[in-house]
Amino acid sequence: MLDLSTNVQYVKGIGPRIAEILLEKGITAVEDLLYYLPFRYEDRLNPRGINELRAGEMASIVAEVRTFGLFKTRRMPLFEMTVGQGRDTLKCVWFNATYLKDKFRAGMTVALYGKVEMSDFGRLRLQILQPQFEILHDPGDAESQSSDESKWKTLEVGRIVPIYEAAGKGKLTARWFRRVIYGMLEQLQPDIPDAIPPIVRGRMSLIDRRRAFQQAHWPEVGESLAKLQEARTPALLRLIFEELFFLELGLELKRRKMRAQTGIGFETNDEIRAAVRKILPFRPTKAQFRVLKEIVDDMKQPSPMRRLLQGDVGSGKTIVALEAAVIAIENGYQVALMAPTEILATQHFLSARTILEDAGYRVVLLTGSQEAGRKKQTRHHIAQGHAQLVIGTHALIQESVEFDKLGLVIVDEQHRFGVMQRFKLMKKTEVAEPDVLVMTATPIPRTLALTLYGDLDTSVLDELPPGRTPITTRRVGDDRSDEVWEFVKKQVAAGHQAYVVYPVIEEGAMEGELKAAIKMHERLRSKEFSSLRVGLLHGRMSADEKDATMAAFKRGEIHVLVSTTVIEVGVDVANANVMVIEHAERFGLSQLHQLRGRIGRGAAKSYCILMTGGKVSEEAHERLDAMVRTQNGFEIAELDLQQRGPGEFFGTRQAGMPNFRVANLLRDRDLLEAARKEAGYVLTNPSDVSKAEVDRAVTHLRSHWNRRYGLVEVG
Ligand code: ADP
Ligand code: MG
Repeated sequence: MLDLSTNVQYVKGIGPRIAEILLEKGITAVEDLLYYLPFRYEDRLNPRGINELRAGEMASIVAEVRTFGLFKTRRMPLFEMTVGQGRDTLKCVWFNATYLKDKFRAGMTVALYGKVEMSDFGRLRLQILQPQFEILHDPGDAESQSSDESKWKTLEVGRIVPIYEAAGKGKLTARWFRRVIYGMLEQLQPDIPDAIPPIVRGRMSLIDRRRAFQQAHWPEVGESLAKLQEARTPALLRLIFEELFFLELGLELKRRKMRAQTGIGFETNDEIRAAVRKILPFRPTKAQFRVLKEIVDDMKQPSPMRRLLQGDVGSGKTIVALEAAVIAIENGYQVALMAPTEILATQHFLSARTILEDAGYRVVLLTGSQEAGRKKQTRHHIAQGHAQLVIGTHALIQESVEFDKLGLVIVDEQHRFGVMQRFKLMKKTEVAEPDVLVMTATPIPRTLALTLYGDLDTSVLDELPPGRTPITTRRVGDDRSDEVWEFVKKQVAAGHQAYVVYPVIEEGAMEGELKAAIKMHERLRSKEFSSLRVGLLHGRMSADEKDATMAAFKRGEIHVLVSTTVIEVGVDVANANVMVIEHAERFGLSQLHQLRGRIGRGAAKSYCILMTGGKVSEEAHERLDAMVRTQNGFEIAELDLQQRGPGEFFGTRQAGMPNFRVANLLRDRDLLEAARKEAGYVLTNPSDVSKAEVDRAVTHLRSHWNRRYGLVEVG
């Protein structure tokens, strides 16, 4: 009898050599192999008769190999094979498939799956082009002879058949998996323990685990194929929910553990409220009011705050963060503000100083490029508690700063995500856990927020400050670039400034046609914009050169800034109202959105011009259309997520995305929400969940899911 943890070597048909191939796929235990699910199913329940096929349909047939051959045409080799059922025959054609020439023998039984089409020769004959095939039976093969005839028939035809991805460079075929997994299921213990509490199972109508595995591999005869391919069957639903339930349970436990720690209960009173009001240079928007209240309510709790503040570029996160800082400082604590880059840290410092120093608060900046003596002195001020707001890069503050009494940490993530790192800093203080506010300018679709930041509370700034006029976005082909440059000149003549952005720095062999920033800077400067002052900004310039160029642009000494995507982050020049993006088809959606966020910051009407050159793929069209249609960051983020998938969306895998076996975040949002609700419920000590059931779920989580989900610290 096998159980889930049995090594796969004990499964019939798996020896040491095959076990090694499986190991490459991460399969070591029976449970892993059970999660090797078919990617589709084929209906060989009632394999179709050749005489009932119609052009245009997808069909699955089982037939006998009659004749075949490789034909050279002028364009490519064709492999043609005729298969038959009694007197009916059907032609199959594969392009460029020389490798098939030794694969078949007359008399073999094959299963074929593909699209039925009218043959070119118009004789009303049908054919299947490029069908997927599987050799079911080879009467000439000794091994096949000796194997039990009725066995292959029960597995390969007369039922809905699971199709698996082959492994080991084709050594382990779909057919191999079918046999081995079928055999394994026969030997599997009849009852698999289920750690999901019964009340949750009932509410979600989950079938039991044993049956879920059985059905996911070998659906019941009678199950409709269409339903199997498209929808989540009860079997799949069970497996997906289980995966999401334990993830959410882990996140919820982590969150509870954090809440149970001693934090700082900040106080507010009339005096402190007045101090906060005093720093405001403008009237906060309704959204800013609401979000500040959410933050302050957290800060007043004796448990540590862990809050994520999402707000599109320009939504006014900074002032909210500074208000929170004032509350902490008025309570006698220090505040750290960490930015992803030195440029951003400096920018935060400049605006924080303007806002806070008049009110008498002491703000310091700590950057890597500062001179050593100065840094030492700043550190001293921080350690002594003299510095009240400390601004620097993430790395710098985390690594080398000792605070006297740190109460609040503000992390400006912009659009990078250092999910796990963000809590490191907390080790610095021996007293209470400081509150943490993470700010991000990338709207995170709710599904991802629930998985990635499930342990954080979330606030959203969903309203732009007043006085902004919406940005007009247009797309044009670069054959109309003359008009675009004319337009830019007009805007400059009216006193404004413009960005022109390129996807690469220099024209390289790889990039061929792409216009590069350096080259176009030369050209625009000497030709189209010869009467204007044109600047250049790219990632290979030194920090000093970049700063100087940015400063000149900010002062209005540069009219048109030609740039790569380095301007994406942290540039705030209200007088710039035109953003031209060349080869816009090459940029990702979030990137386009971030770039566009650089304009529309002043009172003047702003324009974003998306120029395309060369081929524009279907997906690129969708991206550009979305840009023209909406300025809503969440809508754009959703589409971006759909196009690129969760891993790419964050640009990096280390972003802490769980590595799901069955769940698909795009398809299974509803189950994710349900799992979160149920996991939360289970942990609130309800009367219908016993302590033993909770313990069992938590133990299962620790032994099965923690490592997988990077939740190792869950305690
Ligand atoms: P982000 O969310 O991108 O960090 P900022 O905090 O930099 O946005 O704010 C963008 C601009 O809007 C800044 O120039 C800021 O001074 C201004 N701003 C923010 N809130 C308001 C408001 N309530 N009224 C007017 N201007 C505001
Ligand atoms: Mg900001």
